Amino acid sequence: MKFRFTGTGDSAQVPCFGCDCPVCARARVIASARRGPCSAEVEVDGNRYLLDAGHMDLAARCERHRPSAILLTHYHADHVQALLHLRWGRGEPLPVYGPKDPHGFADLFRHPGVLDFKAGLKPFRPLLLPSLTVTPVPLHHSKPTLGYCLDDGGGRLAYLTDTCGLPGATERFLREWQPDVVVLDTGHPSSVIKPTNHNSLPMALQIIERLDVSAAYLTHIGHDLDRELAESPPALPANVRVPKDGEEFFVGPMAQPSMALYRMGDAR
Ligand SMILES: [Zn+2]
Ligand SMILES: [Zn+2]
Ligand SMILES: [Zn+2]
Repeated sequence: MKFRFTGTGDSAQVPCFGCDCPVCARARVIASARRGPCSAEVEVDGNRYLLDAGHMDLAARCERHRPSAILLTHYHADHVQALLHLRWGRGEPLPVYGPKDPHGFADLFRHPGVLDFKAGLKPFRPLLLPSLTVTPVPLHHSKPTLGYCLDDGGGRLAYLTDTCGLPGATERFLREWQPDVVVLDTGHPSSVIKPTNHNSLPMALQIIERLDVSAAYLTHIGHDLDRELAESPPALPANVRVPKDGEEFFVGPMAQPSMALYRMGDAR
């Protein structure tokens, strides 16, 4: 399967509106330093699956290659806001899967348009999509939130955002499931001592160490964490990468062992 980060930012994105910190100032002039709403896409056997829908240009992205389905982690605005526009599109219904959340977001459920909202997924009960098995796992967040364990028969990737720590049952499942790659929420810098809703960098690194995976990527990165990585870079383990928007890689047999490692100088 091919995995692509379409957005690696937090809800404020980078640059953050009105902020004149060095990270945001740089992101205003260097496109590769920007971070859009946390989201990704997966391609397997010609099927394209979206993970979340926060990018406001989602309709244009979907026109180029209509997705087979959309998987929503949860109904916070930065993960679903583009659906408010996309729903008024044309063509075949677009299946949308997500956690059971009666409140959802705004009036999406009342006026779904072209979106075909499926019944809320049950944790640990696999969803069989063409060429992809998706096992939802519960996460710790302020709204019902699911991580997705993706298996195309050749590789396994766990996409885990938004979360502060991991529920015990999810961590036990992941240790047994043994993903090749983990993508993990790292919404707070190290200076946040008591994080809520999102992992701090030390928390994320501890989780990655406990899961004992060969490759891990951080996501849901805000300007505060980018600033920490640029100004006082911690020694990240060799298996941990800080991706940029648009970065992609293969999981499974086509994976490239020489996948570019994150280097401190690349942070900003
Ligand atoms: Zn800033
Ligand atoms: Zn959230
Ligand atoms: Zn979020």
